[in-house]
Amino acid sequence: VTVAIGWLPTLALWKVAAVPLSRSQQMARIKGRDTSAEKLLRHHLWKRGLRYRVNARTPAGRGDVVFTSGRLAVFVDGCFWHGCPDHYVRPRSRTDFWSAKLAGNVARDCAQTSVLQAAGWSICRLWEHEVFENPDGVAERVVGLLRGREPAPSPAWRVAEAHAEDIADAFERWLLVDLYDPEAKKTIIRRRTTRKWRAQA
Ligand SMILES: [Zn+2]
Repeated sequence: VTVAIGWLPTLALWKVAAVPLSRSQQMARIKGRDTSAEKLLRHHLWKRGLRYRVNARTPAGRGDVVFTSGRLAVFVDGCFWHGCPDHYVRPRSRTDFWSAKLAGNVARDCAQTSVLQAAGWSICRLWEHEVFENPDGVAERVVGLLRGREPAPSPAWRVAEAHAEDIADAFERWLLVDLYDPEAKKTIIRRRTTRKWRAQA
C-alpha cells in the first residue's frame, strides 16, 4: 500500500526562529526541509493521480519522492547545494568549508545514483530550477519513468569543484563530473557571476 503524504504537516516548520541565523544556518535550514520546489513537484504529480511516499527509504538513503513498488526514486536537487552548472555561485568566504561541502554532496549524489541503479531502481534527479521552470515537463518525465520509459543516458554534469582562477577573482575554474559516470570529468573556465537564480513566485 502506498501511503500518500501531502504537504500540510510541513507548513508549521517555517518561521520558527526568533534569533537571526548565520548564512550557513539559513542555508542548512533551507536544505533538508520541504523546499517549495519539492512541494510544487508533488502537487503536479498528485494532480496526475500519482501516489507516492515523501522522504521515504530507498536502497540508498531517502528519496524526496519515492515510488516504492515502481522502484523509482525522485530527488529535487538544490542548484547551490548540488552544483548546478547553470546556477552554482562559489562563495568567497570560508572557501574550504564550502568546497568540501560541494565535493561531498556531489560525490554522495553519484554514489547514491549508482547504488540505486545497481539495485534495479530508476532514479530521477531534477534541478530545482527545472521544477520551477517546467513543472509539467518534469512531472511527465516522472510518469514516463514509471511506465518504463528510460531516457537515453546522457551526461548530467554537476559542479564538483570551483576555484578562483586569477588574482582579480574575475574567472573561475570549475571541475564538472557526470552524475552517471563520475569518471567522466571536464574542466571549464568561466567568468565569475554572483547572479543568483530565483524561483518564480
Ligand atoms: Zn539550476
